[in-house]
Amino acid sequence: MVKDLSDFPIQYIKGVGPKRAGLLSRLGILTVRDALYYLPFRYEDRTKIHKISDLNYGQLETVYGRVVSAEIVKPRGRNLRIFEMTISDGSGLLKAKWFNQPFMKKNLKTGYGVLLYGVVKRDPYWGIGFQMDNPEYEIISTADTLEKNDNGPLSQEESSIHMNRIVPVYRVTSGLSVRQVRTIMFNIITAHVNEIDDVIPYDIISKNKLPGITESISQIHFPREYEDIEMFNSGATDFHKRLAFEELFMLELGLAVMRINSKKENGFVFNPEGQLIRRLLGVLPFSLTKAQERVFDEIRQDMKRTHPMNRLIQGDVGCGKTVVALMAMMIASECGYQSALMVPTEILAEQHYLTIYRILEDLGLKSCLLTGSTKKRPLKQIGSGEINIVIGTHTLIQEKVEFRNLGLIIIDEQHRFGVMQRALLRKKSDCPDVLVMTATPIPRTLALTLYGDLDCSVIDELPPDRRPVETLLLHAKQKEQIYGYIKEEVKKGRQVYVVYPVIDESEKTDLRSAILGKDAFEKKFPEFNVRLLHGRMKPSERETIMSSFKKGEVDLLVSTTVIEVGVDVPNATLMIIIHAERFGLSQLHQLRGRIGRGFHKSYCILVAYEPYGEDAMRRLKAMVKTHDGFRIAEQDLSIRGPGEFLGTRQSGMPDLRIANIVRDAELLQEARKDAFNLIEEDPELKGHSRLKRSLEAFWAGRIELFKTG
Ligand code: ADP
Ligand code: MG
Repeated sequence: MVKDLSDFPIQYIKGVGPKRAGLLSRLGILTVRDALYYLPFRYEDRTKIHKISDLNYGQLETVYGRVVSAEIVKPRGRNLRIFEMTISDGSGLLKAKWFNQPFMKKNLKTGYGVLLYGVVKRDPYWGIGFQMDNPEYEIISTADTLEKNDNGPLSQEESSIHMNRIVPVYRVTSGLSVRQVRTIMFNIITAHVNEIDDVIPYDIISKNKLPGITESISQIHFPREYEDIEMFNSGATDFHKRLAFEELFMLELGLAVMRINSKKENGFVFNPEGQLIRRLLGVLPFSLTKAQERVFDEIRQDMKRTHPMNRLIQGDVGCGKTVVALMAMMIASECGYQSALMVPTEILAEQHYLTIYRILEDLGLKSCLLTGSTKKRPLKQIGSGEINIVIGTHTLIQEKVEFRNLGLIIIDEQHRFGVMQRALLRKKSDCPDVLVMTATPIPRTLALTLYGDLDCSVIDELPPDRRPVETLLLHAKQKEQIYGYIKEEVKKGRQVYVVYPVIDESEKTDLRSAILGKDAFEKKFPEFNVRLLHGRMKPSERETIMSSFKKGEVDLLVSTTVIEVGVDVPNATLMIIIHAERFGLSQLHQLRGRIGRGFHKSYCILVAYEPYGEDAMRRLKAMVKTHDGFRIAEQDLSIRGPGEFLGTRQSGMPDLRIANIVRDAELLQEARKDAFNLIEEDPELKGHSRLKRSLEAFWAGRIELFKTG
């Protein structure tokens, strides 16, 4: 039998050995399989290297020449060291400059034959000639032909790897050159490409008209001469598609398994008469929106069923998710079960608790708060079932916390947690119902991956009488205007948030801080009640401030982003965000969601400090123009790329190294369909043992997909 390439240490590949294996491990390459899936990040067409005299300005080019001079230059009057090198290919000269990298002198010496890759410029001084700034380089031969090492002259065999073809360029680490990695890759492909397992069922591959894995891997590393290099450089070939599909298929297959597992389980059946809900609706000062009613109905149906609920509620900030959650808890309570509400921050937990506990008390239910800084933990009462509803942070998932009969779990602001935490909380009981809520309205493709194992409900309607928040972008210099807005709102009886990026100056010297900001506002407005709120304060202090802000006793709340999620004070109508250029788009949207929650018109003032980059400007402009969370999320995704959204630490999702869910959105849909169909037919992958093994490896360390034993 063929040895599994994922058990084959890279060390034993020709040209590697223990020292290089160590270096390769820094690139995440431990096994031969890792290497095969370590893709070039770009390609160079070395079949037609232009003569220097034929170069075009402004073009990215590869040139080959011999080094005729190499020296470090120090321009007068500037604190700069430039390594300057000139190469000649007989047709002309080209100068290359590396700024502040004097060590380059050790790498490149007169007489060497080198390839340079970069944008061709005019010599800025003479206005003619050819120059490249900080080009990438590859040494093809050294002056001393006796020198025998990997950077020495190319042998006949090597020249067929590195020259006269489309060559792959890999990201490397110090101590390893691109050329060395390319040689290693060549050796691996030559020796082992035929041993790669094609784990995806053949009919799925052929249905999607994708090439086989062997061909795909070898073409991606060493494309045929006639292939279109542009397609390779943009990762758009069928070969790339094949690998992206595989990754997405594995991702979706895992989600499908999780989903089918939860459908098989027997959970609690909640079928109350509905008393508590009627009483709750009776005390609410408003009636539900159509969207809230619809989503609650979906929840009620889920909770009636025998298998556990696994539902996501998506809804923009301010749409009223909390009430819906509360209603779900009433179902569990009426049936005699406990509920837990887990939120990402202490402030939010405190806030939810403040809003909810009185209502609950009126209904004869007991609730408690449980966060990292809760002093007296009512663990006994939770264990005995005396407490019906527990509101807390991730402290809830600690081992010590034991419930008597936890029937319903609600996770608010799910985007701050991951699949793992959800799974941990679920372990507190035997198949409880799970409801997760998020205000980060993420684009559909992302939702499919992040929440692919959940049923989705959307609250796509804001409560009536909400007016969009008017958003202004002001420069830090426009102080008086900012003060004017504050004065006007407070005079009308409204309240104001001022948000700072940092608590005090010591954190980052160049940023305005909340502590100094508070002093300044107090001085400016001695007649207003100005208070400070940040994450380093004692929870009891925060609670006091938050509740007096809620009661309307505080005019101006100067805070950090601790108020980013969930905080709900309808009388607050003005938010001033200092250093708005430093915040991410989703974060700004979340912050802005703290206002515009009531009947009065609200204003958000983004205060930008120079200098800021282009991306920051795009974010700020997007904020001024759009209110729709979905549109903002999409913009955010396009500015930041999907990587940050999918970062494993937060989401618990496996890394996507090849696929890009924005670019490959369609492929993702296909992969999802095929994966879910396959799991439907063969839930335990009994007929696909190799696929099953790869799947477990893909999800390793995250979630146990198949019960062992
Ligand atoms: P989010 O979905 O952002 O968590 P909340 O649940 O905090 O929103 O609700 C925002 C505000 O809207 C709260 O003050 C809440 O009381 C109020 N609210 C919720 N539903 C309605 C409704 N149907 N009509 C009027 N106000 C509502
Ligand atoms: Mg909320």
